[in-house]
Formats: sequence, C-alpha cells, structure tokens
Amino acid sequence: MPAYKRILLKLSGEALMGDDAYGINRATIVRMVREVRQVTDQGVEVAVVIGGGNIFRGVAGGSVGMDRATADYMGMLATVMNSLALADTMRQEGMTARVMSAISIEQVVEPYVRPKALQYLEEGKVVVFAAGTGNPFFTTDTAAALRGAEIGAELVLKATKVDGVYTADPAKDPDAKRYENITFDEAIARNLQVMDATAFALCRDQKLPIKVFSIFKPGALERVVRGENEGTLVHV
Ligand code: UDP
Repeated sequence: MPAYKRILLKLSGEALMGDDAYGINRATIVRMVREVRQVTDQGVEVAVVIGGGNIFRGVAGGSVGMDRATADYMGMLATVMNSLALADTMRQEGMTARVMSAISIEQVVEPYVRPKALQYLEEGKVVVFAAGTGNPFFTTDTAAALRGAEIGAELVLKATKVDGVYTADPAKDPDAKRYENITFDEAIARNLQVMDATAFALCRDQKLPIKVFSIFKPGALERVVRGENEGTLVHV
C-alpha cells in the first residue's frame, strides 16, 4: 500500500544526461520513467518538475557574461525541452502525461492552470510542470516546492545522485552516515544542503516534507512511496 496519495517529484536536468556530456540520454530517461511507472501503477498521483541543467543554466557555462534574466529565461526554456522529452517517453511507456508551462508557448505546451493540473492528477495523468516558476532568479527546486504546495502534494521528492542526506560527503568520507530523518531546523543548524534556500524555506513554511533519494537506485522511488526507510526525510 502506498503511504502517499499525491507526490511531487523533482528531477534534475543533469540526471537525464546519463554518462553523456550534455543533453538527454535515451536509456537513462527510459529507466527513470519506468521507476515513475512503478508508482503510478499503484494509483499514486504524480506531478513532476524537471530541471534544465543538462542543456542550459542561467549562472554557469555558456551563460557567463550574459544578462542574468535573459540567461534564466533560456534555462527555463531548457526545462520545457526536458519536460517534452519526459512526457513523450512516458507516452511510449504506456503512461498518460501532460506538460504545463509557467511561460506561455501555447503552440508547444499548454499553460499552467492550477485547476486543470488538479483535474489531470485526479484522472491519473502525470503532470509535468515546465519552465520552472516562470521567473528568473529562481530554480526548479523552488518550482518543485511551489507547485508541490499548490497541488497539495503530501511529499516533495528530490531525486539526487546520492541516496539521501549524509553527515559528510560519502564520496570523500567512508564514515559518512545517512540521515534517515532530520528536521528542517536540524538541517539548517548542521548546514546541510537539501534544496536551495528559497525552496527549503517554502517547504518549511508550508510544512511540506522533503524526501531526498536516488532515482538511479532501482525500486527506490517505490520504496519511498511505500514509506520505507529509503533516502532522507526532512520534516517539521
Ligand atoms: N530557471 C529560472 N527560474 C525558475 C527555474 C529555472 O530562471 O523558476 C532557470 C535558471 O537559469 C536555471 C535553469 O533554469 O539555472 C535550469 O534550472 P535548474 O538549474 O534548476 O535545473 P537543474 O539543476 O535541476 O537541472
């Protein structure tokens, strides 16, 4: 039995690259979609926010020297491409997904309209929120927190390469231990990076718990949704 009825899954753009240097790796996106399917098959309502870091980031790489807002809009457009790829892969895997964009590009995707998003979720469709928050100077982590709060998700799932929040960097310190549970206040006091500060503050204010886990650990997403000891739960 799933422990949650409705979740918001945040995937980073970089996760789509697999071992490639940029862009979308086909085998990787299929693998991710199959992990999501395991939970939609159980009747869990899933909304997704995907980043754009595999294509463009407002504050790095090709954006150096650019006007920040312009670069951020490019980053948001990158998330639209990833969202389209994700929804289409879902279609190929037999799922029904809808992309809704925070920036209007109506020939390509429908605009974000909250009641419509809620309707899709109730109908069992996966909703992919594209273009982040629609505003420069924000991140897709913040879009995940915002949309998660808006749709009444019970949990924001932040998919990372590492399978949770650790006492130290597990790649460098063999004694690093994973936190099973941690409060928002404790995470701040210990200076642990969970999500960016704006996203973190929003979740904390809204008492919206965050689960940090690895999307590449087979079955991890399903275990999280069953409420099992997987990843790290950040709670009030
Ligand atoms: N972005 C933005 N506003 C938002 C969300 C994203 O300006 O609400 C831009 C920003 O430039 C960011 C880029 O889109 O660098 C890609 O998003 P993000 O870095 O969050 O992607 P991820 O790291 O998850 O791949």
